[in-house]
Amino acid sequence: MGAGSGVQLDLPRDLFDAHMAILADKGDTVPLGEALASLQTPEVPARDPVVVTFDDGSSDFVDTVMPVMVERGIPVTLYLATGYVEEQRALPYGGRPLSWAALADVITTGLVTIGSHTHNHAVLARASASLARDEIERSVELIGERLGISAEHFAYPKGLSGSPAAEAVVRQAFRSAALGGTRPNPYGATDVHRLRRSPVQAADGIRWFEAKLRGGMGLEGDLRRALDRLRYGNVTT
Ligand SMILES: [Zn+2]
Repeated sequence: MGAGSGVQLDLPRDLFDAHMAILADKGDTVPLGEALASLQTPEVPARDPVVVTFDDGSSDFVDTVMPVMVERGIPVTLYLATGYVEEQRALPYGGRPLSWAALADVITTGLVTIGSHTHNHAVLARASASLARDEIERSVELIGERLGISAEHFAYPKGLSGSPAAEAVVRQAFRSAALGGTRPNPYGATDVHRLRRSPVQAADGIRWFEAKLRGGMGLEGDLRRALDRLRYGNVTT
């Protein structure tokens, strides 16, 4: 989220901070693993958990996002496209990748869950099993080698479902997987390998953001029974 770059999902820093302040005041932001546990039980918790996620691994995550998360005490999940970090090449939409060292540093806050987003930001919609396996294994291996972390969660690049072969690989390799979709994830009836996420856009402003949290905007006000996952970053990531 390069501040003010004009990309629709790039949020101005002040607006991002205001969004996070709302979340922190509500007090229902939880780590991904905890939200998954809530989703897999039929009981509806008193408050809907909200999971904040980011994709790719741009330097903004370290420089802009994490200071806000630390200040507000908000857990966050980052799905890494490891090839860009490892090779320090520009991200698909022009962002600068973070460094392993900087990422390791913010992980010491205890707020960060690291997941995989493939190695090359590979869209898996038509992928063979061998391509999917290669993309996922390289990514998981690097996260293990560079950070000492076992990546248990996955986000499909561009939020697009995998081919049946790729999805089988994803299901075997990860505890959860996220798609796009801007839909609720109902308690006791959600496929955790097809989690839905609601991208947050700069144009949303504060009122729209609050409406999204409440499940407005055509989400049927059913967010009482939903895990709403928020994402900051480029819409096409
Ligand atoms: Zn992405």
